[in-house]
Amino acid sequence: MIDLSRRPLIVAIDGPAGAGKSSVSKILALRLDFTLVDTGAIYRCVALKAQRSGVAFDDLTGLQTLLDAVKVTFRMDVDKNHVFLDGEDVSDAIRTSEISLAASQVSGQPVVRNALLGLQRRLALAAEQGAILEGRDIGTVVFPDADIKIFLFADPSIRATRRYEELFQKGLEKPVGQVLEDQNKRDKEDSEREVAPLKPAADAVKIDSTRLPLSEVVAQIETLVSSKRVP
Ligand code: C5P
Repeated sequence: MIDLSRRPLIVAIDGPAGAGKSSVSKILALRLDFTLVDTGAIYRCVALKAQRSGVAFDDLTGLQTLLDAVKVTFRMDVDKNHVFLDGEDVSDAIRTSEISLAASQVSGQPVVRNALLGLQRRLALAAEQGAILEGRDIGTVVFPDADIKIFLFADPSIRATRRYEELFQKGLEKPVGQVLEDQNKRDKEDSEREVAPLKPAADAVKIDSTRLPLSEVVAQIETLVSSKRVP
């Protein structure tokens, strides 16, 4: 049993795009009153800032200068987890397909990953009770000693359909074939990069959400959290 008086309980939820990480993490964070750290949003903020500042995604000096000054914060509301870049609410601006691909590109740079490691850990360790971190390398790199490690995945076509529906609801409609193509590109880049590639931690609990309703995924993780909490 983990003594929560020493450290917040750390729940790592890794997996590819569209597996349901964000939805599951948000519901869990609200239900458990845990801090939610959306690490993908942090990489997206860096990509947005680079794009706005005209810094190329492979300009290591430019990226380092930008990272030295970047400030990313979150505010959890019932409707969504708001993301602020240097004080500006960029929750919607970071969710475009263009920024998804850009985030995947900047996240392959070790200079970016190293600079963001401390921030991700600090945000989680500042939590009162527990923190849920969703990303690609939480259980392998950011918190290799996380109390609970989940690797959430699903068939690529199901993930692309979910993403298509999400974009459609935001008025950002795109052919589903294109969504699948972008997703495959991102999966490939994220899984094949040299630093912190997307892969399940050896001790992660693997959950296939292809045919599982969201509520069932949430219930499975909640059961794991309950088993770790000090009564
Ligand atoms: O999770 P999300 O789709 O918002 O992540 C955007 C991109 O950020 C991913 O495709 C991946 O390249 C990068 N990322 C990462 N490591 C994480 C979280 C996200 O490399 N822990």
